[in-house]
Amino acid sequence: MAYVHTQLDTDSLNNPLIDTHIHIDSYPVDQQLSILESLPGCEVDTIISVSMHLGSCQRNLELARQYIGRVQAAFGFHPEQEIPSPAAINALFDFMESHVDEMVAVGEVGLPYYSRLEALSGGKKWDNRPYEDLLEQFIIIAKKHDKPIILHAVYEDANIACDLLEKHGVTSAHFHWFKGAPETIQRMAESGYYISFTPDLIYEEEIRELARVYPAKQVMTETDGPWPFEGPFQGQMTHPHMTADVAAAWAEIQGLDQPAARRILYDNARRFYRLG
Ligand SMILES: [Zn+2]
Repeated sequence: MAYVHTQLDTDSLNNPLIDTHIHIDSYPVDQQLSILESLPGCEVDTIISVSMHLGSCQRNLELARQYIGRVQAAFGFHPEQEIPSPAAINALFDFMESHVDEMVAVGEVGLPYYSRLEALSGGKKWDNRPYEDLLEQFIIIAKKHDKPIILHAVYEDANIACDLLEKHGVTSAHFHWFKGAPETIQRMAESGYYISFTPDLIYEEEIRELARVYPAKQVMTETDGPWPFEGPFQGQMTHPHMTADVAAAWAEIQGLDQPAARRILYDNARRFYRLG
């Protein structure tokens, strides 16, 4: 049975929101369905569900077909994992090529900042080259099919990602849950790249500072669920309705009223993901 997206009343007090980065397939199945059923009631009209690997792509595609418009599927390979075999990489690329019309974006892809840090701090050797090569392949796919790309690339890794995007002339890039140096922030902003804020915008000063300086036309809301949050969200299951808290925090930082802030964040996401 398909659940067709119903248009929200735009005259309601709050404008709708989009969770531009969630791993809906990573929740237990009963939670996947209860979250998706609850979205209209919390004024989140679309989620962009990013994929970890091939199996994750397949599940996200199923959900996108079941919840038309409410779930938009992105296909990729999360970089904080061991590099797959060449056969597994080819199987993933084949899947992406054969479902390109149902792929809203390439993602989640990027570079393994946290895995590398952990390996190096444990005295292990690290070779970043295979990850950079794989990211470049995904960038080539995004370019070939004119799709946006969703990046996990923080701190110095964001510069490597920027170099690769520039090399291939890809301008439609979303650096999710980004953090980085002021020069990198400036470079990304000037390149027209988008970033998104998670619920940690409420309590992380580094992110709040980023929200003060990043162009308002290039920011969106996300949860990265099921990743858990701290502060007022401690112990709660991460749910797309938390994008309302993100929007409220961004509104306050920007000195905007909440409906105006939500409208900007929503329009940015619809424009970036070409949701019409
Ligand atoms: Zn993610």
